[in-house]
Amino acid sequence: MIYLDNAATTFPKPQSVRRAAANSVMTMANPGRSGHRPAMAAGEMIYRCRVKASEFFGAGSVENVIFTPGCTYSANMVIKGLLKSGDHAVVSDMEHNAVMRPMHTMSEKGVAYTIARTGETDDETLASFRDALRSNTRLVICTHVSNVWGQRLPVERIAALCRQYGIPVMTDAAQSAGVFPINAEENGIDFICAPAHKGLYGTMGTGILIARHPELLKTITEGGTGSGSLSLSQPDFPPDKFESGTPNVPGIAALSAGLDFVKQTGVERIHDHEVKLVTYLYDRLSKMSSITLYTPRPNAMRNGGLLSFNVGNLSSEETAAYLFEKGIAVRAGLHCSPLAHRRYGTEKRGAVRISTSYFNTMNEMESAARAISMIAR
Ligand code: PLP
Repeated sequence: MIYLDNAATTFPKPQSVRRAAANSVMTMANPGRSGHRPAMAAGEMIYRCRVKASEFFGAGSVENVIFTPGCTYSANMVIKGLLKSGDHAVVSDMEHNAVMRPMHTMSEKGVAYTIARTGETDDETLASFRDALRSNTRLVICTHVSNVWGQRLPVERIAALCRQYGIPVMTDAAQSAGVFPINAEENGIDFICAPAHKGLYGTMGTGILIARHPELLKTITEGGTGSGSLSLSQPDFPPDKFESGTPNVPGIAALSAGLDFVKQTGVERIHDHEVKLVTYLYDRLSKMSSITLYTPRPNAMRNGGLLSFNVGNLSSEETAAYLFEKGIAVRAGLHCSPLAHRRYGTEKRGAVRISTSYFNTMNEMESAARAISMIAR
């Protein structure tokens, strides 16, 4: 099988990641609860992962690294932990339902929000965000890279704009973490939400929240933390304030090894490789008359390693099913991002998404191009 659904989760995982997850299951116990060796080993591993993640994302301090069950959970923590009735928020028109559904829930609780339209240029996108700001705007959310169209949004410039007004900024880095550099301190981003299992090559069901201003967040879950157990009140210091219950030790062990893999390989190298792959495919597809490509040719500054398209009058699901018959795994449909599809008029039909990882090759792109051209004919 040629796996081209890496935006859903990267597959395969590096051997070091598989080993780290297996090793944690065989040697580690519940951290922070007991003083015996397997518990201590887990606690030390988690601390090391926190240090690596803090450096990787520019968290400013290890306490600002919060482990979560996924990017969705991280986004919920920020949206529900920060906003309250009477507040206003701004979101981009490329947001995933990981952002839109909690925003919708908050809108039923008196939070208003405005959708800022992405433009053809970063200047236009920035202008949309500027126009959307109000005196009661308490949060601005902008995905870093669209999970449908692969384009990068100017989060750093949006953060600089919001800093002038003292408005916190959250970015959904689900498709960029490990593929584009992102640094909370340097870029002035207050909250970065990221999954461990995509570009960081960890395992599913693990995520991270980088909270440069954890004091702005109320908790959305409380429980045992192994600290301050006599008190019924949740600890008020991070990360304990936000990490109740037994942590996902194998997931964090895998993330730790995934961060090493990305660091050793180099974010720039991974990005260049993936963009080369999708650019090659784009050029091949753009010569086929019955293929609809919705976005401009990928560009190293503006794109991650994914590309969406449709073939003739086929539904995106039909094309994906044909490709799977030919041994190529891709994703069709709406990719949990109806707004992003509405932006390009594909909300009824969806689109076929090809998404790459560092492990894909040019030969695989050629096989995909040939298979698509057979379907197109
Ligand atoms: N945000 C974007 C842009 C995504 O692509 C995804 C996953 O596909 C998510 C959020 C949700 O990530 P998770 O499933 O790890 O919670």
